[in-house]
Parts: sequence; C-alpha cells; structure tokens
Amino acid sequence: MRKPIIAGNWKMNKTAAEAKAFAEAVKTKIPANDKVDTVIGSPALFLETLMNVSAGTELKISAQNCFWENAGAYTGETSPAALADLGVQYVIIGHSERREYFHETDQDINKKAKAIFANKMTPILCCGESLETYEAGKTAEWIEGQINAGLADLTAEQVSNLVIAYEPIWAIGTGKSADAQIADEICGVVRQTVEKLYGKEVSEAVRIQYGGSVKPENIAEYMAKENVDGALVGGASLEADSFLALLDFVK
Ligand code: 13P
Repeated sequence: MRKPIIAGNWKMNKTAAEAKAFAEAVKTKIPANDKVDTVIGSPALFLETLMNVSAGTELKISAQNCFWENAGAYTGETSPAALADLGVQYVIIGHSERREYFHETDQDINKKAKAIFANKMTPILCCGESLETYEAGKTAEWIEGQINAGLADLTAEQVSNLVIAYEPIWAIGTGKSADAQIADEICGVVRQTVEKLYGKEVSEAVRIQYGGSVKPENIAEYMAKENVDGALVGGASLEADSFLALLDFVK
C-alpha cells in the first residue's frame, strides 16, 4: 500500500509573515504521517522559518527547486546541501513553469534528482504535456520520454523512494482539470514506464501525484484512482482553510 502524499506548491507567492502565519494555522491540524505525507512547497526565502514553525509536527517542507552542485560560483542558485542542512525533506524539480520560463531540460532535471538523493532528500519530479501534444494524442510517448530521461542512472532504491507528479500543462492554473479517468490513465503510463526501467517492485513502490486545478471539491475523485497516490496543488494550497480541506479525504 502506497502512502498518499499531498503537496502544496505555493509557487512565487506570500511574504515571510504570510508564510509563517499559514504554517502556524495548519501545523496542529495535519493528519498523522502514518496516514498521509503532507507537504508545503515554499519559496526558498521562507524555508528556514517554515522548518522552525513546523518542527515536531506532521507538516513537511519542500523547496521548489535547487541546483545540482552543492557549492560554488553559481550566482542566485540554491544549494541542495544547504537545503538538507536546514532539514528540508523534499525538492520539487522539473515543474513545467521552470521548463518553460527557465529553459530547464530533462538532463538538468536528472542532475538535480541525483544531487537531491545524494543529500538524502526526496525529489518530487514533475512531468506533463502541452495542450498541443495532448490534442495530437501523443501524451503517452511524451511522458515516457520525460520519465526515461529524468530517471537516467538513478538506482532502483532511489526510484522506489521518488515522488513523480503528472501535471498536464493545459490543466495548470486554468481551472480545467484533467478528469480523474485521464489522470489515472497517464499516472498509469508513468508507472508502466518505471516498470519497464526498474521492474514491478519499484513501479509498485513509486508514488505518483496528479497536479492541475486540484481543489478540495475534486481531490477525492483523484485519490480514489488506482494509479494516483497524491496531488500537487497550486492555487488551492495558498489559503490555510483550503489546504486543510484537501486533506479531508483521509478521514
Ligand atoms: P494549480 O493547482 O493552481 O492548477 O497548479 C498546479 C501546479 O502547477 C502545482 O505544481
């Protein structure tokens, strides 16, 4: 049985005071970690504050990106070693916004995944197709390509612990979610791709999230699906009440 993982992705939102107030409001209301992993993906600026506020609670903290080197002359980048030192447990990598606006490639994302594992954190590796690819009926081959390249040279043990988020670009921030059937089907494609690369045991262990206009009103439909182990949520993770309501399916 795979443990569900619900992660908020705040993207580039909130001030330090707002991030702190959010964590204070939710930290004692999160279901126990033996039922669900509950994660906030915060801008790097607020990670230290969030680690302090969430210490000793069920709330886990994720970065939204990092570099693949631990230190050096890389102006403006975030060190995975420094994230691990803060106690951050997850790092989102390969989000479609980073691929689109910052030209990240599958090869960059693969290097980041290795650096994150080397620092004993867990990558949340995003994949997803454009509307054009979706309408051309080429989603499965696109996703397979992203997974093959993103996972290159990772070990079976690493992939067993990985989280993969399937986020169709046409469903992000549009209010137009992929229906639960499509989400299940494409999360299934991700799982089959992992199976081809690493075998059944690893593909049964890897956790796969759906992301794209997930809300408290529709999350239960996704979570009921065989291949969907969680959600990566943007807009509906920004307010404390809405974030907590995403966890209602657990009860
Ligand atoms: P929305 O939930 O706002 O559609 O964003 C999805 C997303 O990109 C999460 O990473």
